[in-house]
Amino acid sequence: MYARYLLVGTVLTILVGMVGPGAASAQRDHAAGTPRGLPDAAELTETGLVYTVQPGDTASEIAERFEVTTEQLVMWNEGLEPDRIREGQRLRLDTGLRRIVHTIRAGDTLAALATRYEVAVNDIVRWNRRIRRHSIRVGRELTIFTTVPESRSESIGTPQAGRLAHAHQLPRNHPAILVRYPQRAWGTDEAVRWIVDAFDAVRDAHPDTPRVAIHDLSRERGGALMGHHSHTSGRDADIAYFQNGCGEECRFRTIGPSDLDVARQWTLFRYWLEHDQVEAIFVDYALQRALYEHARAEGVPREQLARWFQYPREEGNRYGVIRHHPRHANHFHVRFVCHETDEACR
Ligand SMILES: [Zn+2]
Repeated sequence: MYARYLLVGTVLTILVGMVGPGAASAQRDHAAGTPRGLPDAAELTETGLVYTVQPGDTASEIAERFEVTTEQLVMWNEGLEPDRIREGQRLRLDTGLRRIVHTIRAGDTLAALATRYEVAVNDIVRWNRRIRRHSIRVGRELTIFTTVPESRSESIGTPQAGRLAHAHQLPRNHPAILVRYPQRAWGTDEAVRWIVDAFDAVRDAHPDTPRVAIHDLSRERGGALMGHHSHTSGRDADIAYFQNGCGEECRFRTIGPSDLDVARQWTLFRYWLEHDQVEAIFVDYALQRALYEHARAEGVPREQLARWFQYPREEGNRYGVIRHHPRHANHFHVRFVCHETDEACR
């Protein structure tokens, strides 16, 4: 708890330390998304702070204002000659602080967001005009200033012999997800976010979508998981199929093609496939044809179908993202790709 406030304090020191011609107007504008004290000439982008050189500025003064050194300025701006800066030149300042836009998803709370981005709830309220503390609307975009990296989790090694660091847990209050074992519902930031996003996409496209049981992802630190060969590195998940007539909750159940809620299932798979988020989806061979025909009827181009589906190739052919694996008639298994920030992911 204390560490979090220290971090917030650090951010504020950097921002409040900036005094410039625009400081006063930045103060007035802070509710529209500018942190207090940020001069007009400085803007926070997704990659960091950018400062536009003003008349009369010198490199050493700018460095001093942002509490960095001239050497750092040169390091962050290739080719910069500190005694030859000119008005209008844009300088990158790698202070680690960036501005992110978070789109509120079902299950989000301000407290959870504050924890994730290591800021205070009050800051989020201050940076976003007319936000209601206790009822935040799904789909609304929030501006947050943070030093927390976009992806903190790390998938290390292979799905069969890997581990997981700084894991993220599936939300338990999401309206389309039933988490069976919270202690085995840990994954990378991306795996968890992509599962939630895809289920949100299904809810958007199909009213009255039931909740679907999700069994194992990984343990908080990954490693061997009883009953599985993989699931060690936070990129695997076992999920029930959308089934016709499963009421409010679809659970693990051995099904045939006529039981499959093809439209919802395809919306879920299509979301991951179109966003290049999945390496493999293991689906019993007998269930693939219905999905394939549905996708074709929706106008998915032939080359795309050939890349996404094993069907109509034979069951033993290992080609296709959606492919057969024994014992996947009662659930499917999705394996997400390695995220670009996970350098040791295999
Ligand atoms: Zn599995």
